[in-house]
Amino acid sequence: MKVIVVGAGVVGCAIAYELAVRGVQVHVIDGRGPGLGATRASAGMLTPYIEGHSAALLQLGVCGLEQYDRFISRVSSDAGAPIEYRRIGTLQIAHDDAEAGKLAEEDRALSAMGVAHSLLSGREARQLEPALDARVTAGLRIPAHGYVGVQSLLSALVEAATRRGAEFSVAHVHAIDGAAPVRVETTGGALSADAVVVAAGSWSGGIVLAGRQAPVRPVRGQLLHLRLSEPPVSHVVWGAAAYLVPWQDGSVLVGATVEDVGFDERVTVSGVRRLLDDGERLVPALGNAAFHEARAGLRPATADELPIIGASSSMRGVYFATGHYRSGVLLAPLTAALVADQLVDGRERRELALVRPDRFGL
Ligand SMILES: Cc1cc2nc3c(=O)[nH]c(=O)nc-3n(C[C@H](O)[C@H](O)[C@H](O)COP(=O)(O)OP(=O)(O)OC[C@H]3O[C@@H](n4cnc5c(N)ncnc54)[C@H](O)[C@@H]3O)c2cc1C
Repeated sequence: MKVIVVGAGVVGCAIAYELAVRGVQVHVIDGRGPGLGATRASAGMLTPYIEGHSAALLQLGVCGLEQYDRFISRVSSDAGAPIEYRRIGTLQIAHDDAEAGKLAEEDRALSAMGVAHSLLSGREARQLEPALDARVTAGLRIPAHGYVGVQSLLSALVEAATRRGAEFSVAHVHAIDGAAPVRVETTGGALSADAVVVAAGSWSGGIVLAGRQAPVRPVRGQLLHLRLSEPPVSHVVWGAAAYLVPWQDGSVLVGATVEDVGFDERVTVSGVRRLLDDGERLVPALGNAAFHEARAGLRPATADELPIIGASSSMRGVYFATGHYRSGVLLAPLTAALVADQLVDGRERRELALVRPDRFGL
C-alpha cells in the first residue's frame, strides 16, 4: 500500500512513522521541509489537565499522554537517537486572590477525577521552587505532566520513519483528487497513491479538495528560548500570563502569545517584550539569562478547538489529521495511531468519534 502524507510537522511525521512501521510505503511531502511550521515554535508541553478545556479535549489529551512513554521509547530506539522527554510535573502558580481562586477550583475538579495533585500555599510553592517570584500566593502541582523537546522528537521521527523506508521530499501540494488511486497535484508534478493524509496544519484549507475546504485557521504563537547555566526550576511552571519549560541543559522556553493575525509568521517586538516581562514575573532570575532565540508559529485551530482526524466521509482515499491547535505535540502519537489503525487495519478506535471530519462536511 502506498500513502502520501501532506505536511511534515509533528503530526505528519508521527503518522509517517506509524504507517511505515506497519509496512506502508510512505511518501511525505512538505513545501518547506520537516518541522518548519507550528511545530518549530512549540513548547512541547504535555499538560492535558491544564489545557483540556472541554470534556472531549480532556479525554483526547489524557489518552494522548498515556501513549507518550511507549511512543518515545519506540521512536528513540528506531531512530537510534535520544529524545529530550521528562515527566517532571507542572506547578501552576497564583499571584493574587482571583488566580488562587482558580487554582482552588481546579483542585476540586482534579479531586473529582481522581488525578494525583497537591494544592500549595505560596510558601510551600516557593519551598518547592526557590527561584519563584516572592509574591506567589498559591500553587497547584500535577506530577503526571511533562514535556518533550520538540526538535529532538521531530528529528528522531524523520530518522525512524526513513529507516523504515519512508521518503521525504520538498514540494507544495495544490490539489487532491479523491478516487482510487488518489491523485495529488504538486509543484513537482502529479503523484498517485492508494491514500493521502492531509496533515498540513494551518495551511490545510489552501489545498483544493474537490470543492471542499478544511476549516482550519491560523492562530499565531510566539515563544522565547533563553539559556541559563542550569535549570532555574524543576517543574514546568504555569502562571496566568505565561509558562516556563526548563530543559536539562539550562534552556528555558517562555511561552506564548495567542494572536489572531492571519498567516503572519513574524516574531514581533511587542510579542518578545511581553514574554520577557511575563517570564521574569514568574522567575526573576530569567533577567540574567542569555537570549537564544524567539520563534513564532501558526497553531491550526478549528471552530470547536478539536482536531479533524480520520477518513473523509465523501472523498475516497482521503484522510485528515489537522486542526490540532494548542495540542498537536501532545496528540501526535494518538493521532498517528488513530489514522494508522483506520487506514491500514480498518479499525476505528472510540476516540475517533470525537474528531471525525464529517462534522465539518469533509
Ligand atoms: C508558541 C507555540 C507553543 C505551542 N506549545 C505547545 C505545547 O506546549 N504542546 C502542544 O501539544 N502543542 C503546542 N503547540 C501547538 C503545536 O505546535 C501544533 O498543534 C502542532 O505543531 C501542529 O502540528 P502540525 O504538524 O499539524 O502542523 P505544522 O507543524 O504547522 O506542520 C504543517 C506542515 O505542512 C506543510 N504544508 C502546509 N501546506 C502545505 C502544502 N500545500 N503542501 C506541502 N506542505 C504543506 C507546512 O510547511 C508545515 O511544515 C504550540 C504552538 C505554538 C505556536
